[in-house]
Amino acid sequence: MSEGWGNELLRLGLWLIGGLIVGAVFGHALWGLLLSSLVYLGQLLYHLKRIVRWLSKGAVGAPPNVGGIAEYIGEQVYQRQRRNLKRRRRLAGMVSSFRDSMANIPDGLVLLNEQRKISWFNNAAREYLGLKYPADIDQRIDNLVRQPVFTDYILSADHTRTIEVHSPMSSASHQEMRVLPFGDTQQLLIVRDASLLHRLQKIRSDFVINASHELRTPLTVMRGYMEIVEDDENLPEDLQRPLKQVARQVARMDRLVNDLLELASLEREDARLNETLVDIPALIKGLMQEAYALSSDNKHEFVLRIDQNLALLADKKAVLSAMSNLVFNAIHYTPAKGKITVSWGIHGDQACFLVEDNGPGIAEQHLSRLSERFYRVDVSRSRDSGGTGLGLSIVRHVMVSHGGELDIESELGVGSRFTCCFPGTRVRQLTG
Ligand code: ADP
Repeated sequence: MSEGWGNELLRLGLWLIGGLIVGAVFGHALWGLLLSSLVYLGQLLYHLKRIVRWLSKGAVGAPPNVGGIAEYIGEQVYQRQRRNLKRRRRLAGMVSSFRDSMANIPDGLVLLNEQRKISWFNNAAREYLGLKYPADIDQRIDNLVRQPVFTDYILSADHTRTIEVHSPMSSASHQEMRVLPFGDTQQLLIVRDASLLHRLQKIRSDFVINASHELRTPLTVMRGYMEIVEDDENLPEDLQRPLKQVARQVARMDRLVNDLLELASLEREDARLNETLVDIPALIKGLMQEAYALSSDNKHEFVLRIDQNLALLADKKAVLSAMSNLVFNAIHYTPAKGKITVSWGIHGDQACFLVEDNGPGIAEQHLSRLSERFYRVDVSRSRDSGGTGLGLSIVRHVMVSHGGELDIESELGVGSRFTCCFPGTRVRQLTG
């Protein structure tokens, strides 16, 4: 039994015995008992009233010194209150030191509420995005960072990727942005300076472009001489084979230089897509003429499933390059008489180009790396087929630059399926 109850029962006992004795002295023991019970009850109610008043004033300071169970209740509340206060102070201290560290993190951090309005931002975010405190609190972030790439990203439901934008403060610098879920409904926008990475990428792509251009002239000269020499009927027989090999290698280097140039220009951040309405069915028709010629002796079975009305707002040259890389790969890697299916149609709200073959297939461990530059499953086979190892890398870049995706599925011994899906916003219907 608690001390409060003990005191209270003692007090009740004293009142009852006192009342009984005094009542007995006057010859009315029961009346004495009743009277003392009433006095005790009145006193208890009065004590409880003082405690209730103390509670209703916020239980500040020690409870009234009324003794018994009423004081015991007050004491319990008071101690709990003090413990809570200590805990709140500790938590407030933690929150404030957490905020201080967040405020000084070198990455820009912006906390957004459900309506994408700014609830809080740190010092780096002021610097990166030019945010002003307190004017920009409660402003929608897409009203302050006005760049189409950013607006599309922040309004979309998919924030798994990172985007790069020009800094709103200086168009010469670049920033990397990522949105993470924060709590139940909030989002945390993280902004990083990506200028150094960009400069390095530009140096690399400038180097590749310059080197490729430098290689082009000697290659053109070599190719010209090779054609003259190859056509020479008086060429000694023992030179014919090596010269044919040299011609094949020159053609391979030529393809390599072209692919390197194409990839480097697709990667350039200042590369603009030359967007037009592209009649994809007509493009595929032209591409298939080349495909039939390339397949010729191998007699592949081609199946075409083309939506004849489906066009695309896209860069025609880039899209043709992506599509031909996939179709030519299928021809190169599928054995003679194999089946190659080329499809173009709507899948969900996207327009997808599919190339399927029943060739050798690719083991699962290679699939995620297949679109890396120069990644080949079988190097000698790729070289024999005239491959540069850059084809799928080009396809992926074309898809990324169009806001689409390349998906690769394959099973050893069964075949492969390469799917390029373009976003619904690019899809157009051909009329007439
Ligand atoms: P390459 O010029 O070597 O063909 P790609 O980037 O186009 O380079 O392809 C990368 C690798 O993917 C190829 O070396 C090959 O191993 C594999 N590959 C591509 N397409 C197919 C296909 N249809 N069937 C089997 N393997 C393929």
